[in-house]
Amino acid sequence: MNKILEVKNISKIYQGKESEILSIHNINFDIEEGEFVSIIGPSGCGKSTLLSVIAGLEEKTTGKIYIENEKVDGISEKIGYMLQRDCLLEWKTILDNTLFGLQIKNQLDKNTKAYAESLLRKYDLYEFKNKYPSELSGGMRQRVALIRTLATNPKILLLDEAFSALDYQTRIMVTHDIYDILRKENITALMVTHDISEAISMSDRVIVLTKRPGTIKNIHEIKFNLENRNPINCREQTEFTGYFNTLWKELGVDG
Ligand code: ADP
Ligand code: MG
Repeated sequence: MNKILEVKNISKIYQGKESEILSIHNINFDIEEGEFVSIIGPSGCGKSTLLSVIAGLEEKTTGKIYIENEKVDGISEKIGYMLQRDCLLEWKTILDNTLFGLQIKNQLDKNTKAYAESLLRKYDLYEFKNKYPSELSGGMRQRVALIRTLATNPKILLLDEAFSALDYQTRIMVTHDIYDILRKENITALMVTHDISEAISMSDRVIVLTKRPGTIKNIHEIKFNLENRNPINCREQTEFTGYFNTLWKELGVDG
């Protein structure tokens, strides 16, 4: 397996109004190509900070980041980012929203447009291409947001609480759809979530952070005895409850 992302000794200090805030401290981990890794930890422990630093949206205070063995400082073309809000533009059609990521990166041409359209077709959204976001369900909107990101051809997708605005039923369906798309397109994923079940259901590994300053408390491998594992069928496995209890305890009062 190839290491696609290496995070080495990352720390981040924010300049607060009165003092410095050490948000994350000495974070080290690697991700292999095609892996799905989740990060969980107490609220305010620095999960979003870590993703923003990896995305190059925030400067790191110490440490190094390598993507496909190349040192990265700042924003990398190889990274896509999905947030809690789908950030679709209500006045643009689904097709124009899908092309928007390419447009702002100056990558919109015949080929990239055809690729974006092929993704819409493959994931059953093409017939909605002339509709507006308000005409779609929350789950479909998240799929459009994902396709907009994938159209720019990232290697690694970062997801920050990407499903937490959705109601429970929709969330389960959307995690299933998104997981399926990421596997089919061979995208490596790093997801922050506060939902332990969501983390277990989607991940090959779960990284647990301590309370702030966030450091790595533990990294758990998640394995199920299933041939075609997905975020729904693994919930019925006996191992699921075991993982849940372990992670629940680890996130307990001592952070
Ligand atoms: P999480 O995503 O785990 O809830 P965050 O990464 O958002 O946590 O925040 C971690 C800590 O860093 C918090 O104490 C927060 O107040 C601080 N922090 C985050 N962003 C900034 C910022 N732009 N300026 C100052 N402090 C910040
Ligand atoms: Mg956060």
